[in-house]
Amino acid sequence: MELNNNAYYAGGVKLVDVAKEFGTPVYVYNADSIISQYKRLKNAFNPIDIKIKYACKALNNSAILRLLKNEGSGLDTVSINEVKLGLRAGFKPNEIIFTPNCVGIDEIKEAVNLGVHINIDNISILEQFGAIYGNTVSCCIRLNPHIMAGGNSKISTGHIDSKFGISIYQLRHVVRVVKSNNMHINGLHMHTGSDILDAGVFLQGAEILFDCAKDFPDLSFIDFGSGFKVAYKENDITTDIEELGQLLGTRFTTFCKEYGRELELWFEPGKFLVSEAGYFLVKSNVIKQTTATVFVGVDSGLNHLIRPMLYDSFHEIVNISNPDGKQRIYTVVGNICETDTFGWDRKLNEVHEGDFLCFKNAGAYGITMASNYNARQKPAEVLIYQGKTYLIRKRETLEDMILNEVNINL
Ligand SMILES: *Cc1c(COP(=O)(O)O)cnc(C)c1O
Repeated sequence: MELNNNAYYAGGVKLVDVAKEFGTPVYVYNADSIISQYKRLKNAFNPIDIKIKYACKALNNSAILRLLKNEGSGLDTVSINEVKLGLRAGFKPNEIIFTPNCVGIDEIKEAVNLGVHINIDNISILEQFGAIYGNTVSCCIRLNPHIMAGGNSKISTGHIDSKFGISIYQLRHVVRVVKSNNMHINGLHMHTGSDILDAGVFLQGAEILFDCAKDFPDLSFIDFGSGFKVAYKENDITTDIEELGQLLGTRFTTFCKEYGRELELWFEPGKFLVSEAGYFLVKSNVIKQTTATVFVGVDSGLNHLIRPMLYDSFHEIVNISNPDGKQRIYTVVGNICETDTFGWDRKLNEVHEGDFLCFKNAGAYGITMASNYNARQKPAEVLIYQGKTYLIRKRETLEDMILNEVNINL
């Protein structure tokens, strides 16, 4: 987002105009930003041709999926419906990896029938999979290396209490199940959670996976999941992707020599690709002065952007209607009948009722976590692509919300 002649722009488009044209609340995504993040990650590992499997739970609008497909991305999916959305968007089955947790064998079988890569995250399913498919269908194994990573415990998945993956301490058991069923293991995977800070943590995880690889002679890829940290505030520390690319890339090359074969190196970024590209535009409905603070009440709430309330994530807020107004301190809240505070003590250019506010870093886990709580419809979505705006999801209507209700005679 750039400030030009007293107006905020993204991808060459004035954000206030988007709010006026499409109404609020509205999610807006800048395609240029997504594409440049994709290229940046690819280039960081040069000369290794890494495979990027976009974690579409972050943002799964089919326009975004097609945008990334056109760049050459694959897809990381966590439910059978995400697999289907990917196939509908034109991804080939072998470009998609299915990494669910705690789903039943029936959902896994459905994914096998659709031809996508299967990533298994517990021994029970591994046994059932082996019994059904033996060596006729390959699968990947999700390991938990137990490295403590991630910004806060709600989003770190590598620790000892985590439900994700198979503990590396159970590796002997895993190998027994694999051998007994004559299984073909084509990949090893780890995803230690969001917001890993540094390359060192990745390398630590990498060494563990490389060590485990000795037990699996049929591998064709190693998948390091995601966890790249993006900046939410000015001066936030972010993952140094270029450093990671050099360090892990070099180590991966020597690992392949030790292993005796060239393997593919996979990543599954969600946030890294789409977070910064997204802006959530809302309207200030009321300015409410209390004894404690000045509230700005906006036409949205935890029903549309739950991250601040769910795991204390920080979204910078900007008054895009009054860029040079004098700065004052506000508490920005939603209109939902719950405490839905977006941010305390935010310094905003003076806010008037009717002004448009912009939440930054709203591309990832915004719309995909939205709900209809308080019988409010989900927002519209707009894509900025090559300097033009495109409506990519209509605002929901009351009719949409009650579509599946069944009327009975009472
Ligand atoms: C959520 C998820 C990701 C993406 O995580 P980000 O923090 O958004 O990059 C990648 N892989 C798996 C298996 C996931 O569940």
